[in-house]
Amino acid sequence: MANAEQFDLLIKGGQVIDPGAGYSGQLDVAVADGKVATVEAGIDAGRAGKVVDATGKIVTPGLIDLHTHVYWGSTFWGIYPDPVAARTGVTTWLDVGSSGGYNFPGLRKFIVEESKSRVYALLNISSIGLTGPSWELANPDYLDVALGQTIIEANRDVIVGVKARIDTNTTRNVGIKALDIARELAEAVDLPLMIHIGAGPPTIDEVIERLRPGDIITHCFTGQSMNLLDPNGQLYPRVAELRAQGLVLDIGHGAGSFSFDTARTMLANGVMPDVISTDIHQLAIQGPCFDMPTTISKFLAIGMSLEDAIERSTIKPAQAIHLDHLGSLKPGSPADIAMFHLEDGDYTFQDIFMNEQRGSQLLVNDATWIDGEALERVPYPDLQPWAVLNENQRSKMIPLVEVPFKPAAPLLDNRK
Ligand SMILES: [Zn+2]
Repeated sequence: MANAEQFDLLIKGGQVIDPGAGYSGQLDVAVADGKVATVEAGIDAGRAGKVVDATGKIVTPGLIDLHTHVYWGSTFWGIYPDPVAARTGVTTWLDVGSSGGYNFPGLRKFIVEESKSRVYALLNISSIGLTGPSWELANPDYLDVALGQTIIEANRDVIVGVKARIDTNTTRNVGIKALDIARELAEAVDLPLMIHIGAGPPTIDEVIERLRPGDIITHCFTGQSMNLLDPNGQLYPRVAELRAQGLVLDIGHGAGSFSFDTARTMLANGVMPDVISTDIHQLAIQGPCFDMPTTISKFLAIGMSLEDAIERSTIKPAQAIHLDHLGSLKPGSPADIAMFHLEDGDYTFQDIFMNEQRGSQLLVNDATWIDGEALERVPYPDLQPWAVLNENQRSKMIPLVEVPFKPAAPLLDNRK
């Protein structure tokens, strides 16, 4: 761009919601050289090479999904990120622990470097990461702090923290000690630690007494036994205390974690999650989680405002992992932008237990830009043959959005 007055792209007349930069209202977003040039009202369309009419649309910073699994082809859970980015407005994915020391180099080479959407990672304390569905912490030989530190030091541009899944399906006899080892790594590299909670043992008490400010608790609205509600239905006082010092509560919907009962109780008690994320993976993408717009719509259905939901899926996740250049449309930021509309209707949303919640609005993505370039909508590759939903989730599944992929057929027939 020779002329500083010229823009490559002008997204004109949309309702901008950008809590990070403080923009709100009918504004135009101008892009030059892949960066946000300015956000203001009434920019002359003649100043831009390409103009997108956003009248009646909602324009936000590109969404940041803080809990995802995008190590496609090398792990049980991994989905392929770009085709999903293009239809959901997610421009930044945090892959949380799909890779550990032994397989991070592949995540970097084949996914991070090959994707148009931005991929950052938390390194699993287990050197094998999430190659399989479970037990990654059960072999203490794989809990290698020195290797983790070496990998992180060489890849600080991509790795922004450490991940440990702490539940009965991951730790086996190692128990809570796995969390202590993960803590050792996080401290050695001075990065945030994301702790997944689920069905114990270990107990939630064992986790809570080990929490620190700056940690991220994912699956914070879980309906499993390690949930964050005390016997009186209140957030554990120690957790509330730590939140005031910077503990982050992240949703991580997934296929086993988000409960409407827990969510309604939390919200009724004034506990808002800090971050809304999907835990999208080979199973969750088939529903009832589906994707970010659907997960955000569930929060609208239980009374969260759209502004609060967008804050929790843009600037707040950016802050949780210290990606200060992302999550807002502040001039000079990468032009990662999403355009949506709210579709009115009578929707039945489901949590992972297939408990239902009626809602009247569905957030639908219309376009997604990264560095000012529109992502092309392409079909999603077939799901992996092992990615078969359990009977309950499958039988009641009601896709709310077009599902552009073929669910895997059950493997059972081959085993007879
Ligand atoms: Zn996960």
